[in-house]
Amino acid sequence: MSIQILPARLANQIAAGEVVERPSSVVKELVENSLDSAATSIEIEIEKGGHKRILIRDNGSGIASDELALALSRHATSKITCLDDLEAIHSLGFRGEALASISSVARLTLTSKPEKQQQAWQAHCEGRDMQVQVNPVAHPAGTSVDVADLFFNTPARRKFLKTEKTEFAHIDEVVRRIALSRFDVSFSLKHNGKVVRKYPAISASGNKIKRLTAICGKGFTDACLEINSQYQKFELHGWMLPPTELASGHEFQYVYVNGRMMRDKLINHAIRQAFEGIDNAEFRPGYVLYLSIEHDQVDVNVHPAKHEVRFHQARLVHDFIFRALSDVLKQYLQNENSGSATTVLPPVEP
Ligand code: ADP
Ligand code: MG
Repeated sequence: MSIQILPARLANQIAAGEVVERPSSVVKELVENSLDSAATSIEIEIEKGGHKRILIRDNGSGIASDELALALSRHATSKITCLDDLEAIHSLGFRGEALASISSVARLTLTSKPEKQQQAWQAHCEGRDMQVQVNPVAHPAGTSVDVADLFFNTPARRKFLKTEKTEFAHIDEVVRRIALSRFDVSFSLKHNGKVVRKYPAISASGNKIKRLTAICGKGFTDACLEINSQYQKFELHGWMLPPTELASGHEFQYVYVNGRMMRDKLINHAIRQAFEGIDNAEFRPGYVLYLSIEHDQVDVNVHPAKHEVRFHQARLVHDFIFRALSDVLKQYLQNENSGSATTVLPPVEP
């Protein structure tokens, strides 16, 4: 067979294989776009576990009418322009792939109104080649992305979707994780017309424990130890469970690097090492940890879904996290042994 350039839609569908694994990955990508647009309120509406419909509505900066079609094309992004930008990414997105990928495997409607634009405009795109129609509609300032019939044109992928319940559980988990990354943004999650989660925004000086409790449960917040550590330009904040059998909430093992949720082998190793020697075989550490590091010290362009990062000073990051957690644990165990009370967190406000 001769060599040919793939048609745009097929190329996007191939890229979608990496970015759009299931409904929850659509939710992740769209909510990250809303956060990048400086939204302070994000509403998520799901029908039938996302099989039927995923709708994300935000009050962010919006997309100008003449850029709607462009936003849907591959490698189109407003977030980076040159290689230097790529070396110090400040936004969650930068690859310009999500909207193109999602629209190649679903019926996507993008509606947006920047604050200063008189009229909202809407672009619709489905199954055909990347021809996008744009029409004026009514919509408040901000953006809505409506994704219907995910994988309708890729039956092989549709077959891999799990039950409505399972897919919704994945979505719920993604929303939980993202909600823990931005306490200053309000999130709501509806399923089949019913509000199932509401995480109101918490101001910078407000009590974050409320949202932590809403997400990880009172067992977690009552027992958890607070972490606040700094070394050079690294900072680690967050909470972790002490090695007591009673504490519930060990299923929460969340790590954020510069506000981005991660599954990072290096960080996991540092955490495991900090808990080594705890003679409670049953214990699984539960934690919500936020690492801040200079943007040019971490490469996020490693994985299409950006689950992984590479640290320039990997050893230093590893040892910093290990030390920060071991210090808190050591302190806790000392207090336990000397019988003194460990009230680490302020009480939850009613
Ligand atoms: P990326 O996020 O990597 O830039 P996407 O395909 O996710 O790529 O989005 C393409 C572009 O569309 C973004 O760079 C942004 O300019 C615009 N965009 C997407 N979603 C939103 C939104 N909710 N609000 C404002 N602009 C958006
Ligand atoms: Mg994006």
